[in-house]
Amino acid sequence: MALHILQGDTENDKRWLEKAARLHLSTSKWIVPSSAVEGDKAVIFVGSTFFATATIASTPKRRTDWPNRYGAGLRSVRLIEPPISLDVIRRRIPELKWAIYPRSVTTVLPAIATTISELISDRRHRGGSDVDDRMLDVAGIEELRARAIADARPKAARKVRMAVHQSRSLPVHRYVLARADGGCEGCRCKAPFQTRKMTPYLEPHHTIRLADDIPLSVIALCPTCHRRVHHSLDGEEYNAALIRKLRKLEPVGAR
Ligand SMILES: [Zn+2]
Repeated sequence: MALHILQGDTENDKRWLEKAARLHLSTSKWIVPSSAVEGDKAVIFVGSTFFATATIASTPKRRTDWPNRYGAGLRSVRLIEPPISLDVIRRRIPELKWAIYPRSVTTVLPAIATTISELISDRRHRGGSDVDDRMLDVAGIEELRARAIADARPKAARKVRMAVHQSRSLPVHRYVLARADGGCEGCRCKAPFQTRKMTPYLEPHHTIRLADDIPLSVIALCPTCHRRVHHSLDGEEYNAALIRKLRKLEPVGAR
């Protein structure tokens, strides 16, 4: 049984996969390698991530609307959550040549198919906590978020924590900076400068003393906003406003 990497090119494909996973839908004409056989496994690459898995459901037929392409049915669509970003795939499976130019459908060698299956089952089992510290530089925002939340969980049990003003958790720090996308989450100004690593300089700020490092409690601020919280006349009110902002930034139920 072979493993094929298929493509989902558009936002439509992505939405269809999400719906198919939820409602157990199948399709009849996804583009597959002509050698694919009913029952083969497929992993679907969308938006620079391994986004979903599926099973080939029919024998490939030449697509009349697309020269030299073959379409086959897909069934048993399952999402990979969070999706595995291309840089993490490259880091974990350097021998996967496709990952260098991930443009077309491909059938991978059996040994690599095993590694890919392990990567996916690891992701499904660990939900993003499989992204280790060395991968934080290359992980996608959804992976950083999942890792940040996974990291916070065991610590949440501890009742007493030292008061800290700055995030000590690297995954949360990285996630919050990714979420900020180069702008202060307090005043929305652009980060004042680029760091030596060519990333926008912002400071993670703990809005709640004694709380754990979780995405809901840490906000990325420009140096001015950060100083404002700690030193300004309206520091406490400003911090309360930041807490309200965080509640809007972080989806309910994902705390
Ligand atoms: Zn600011």
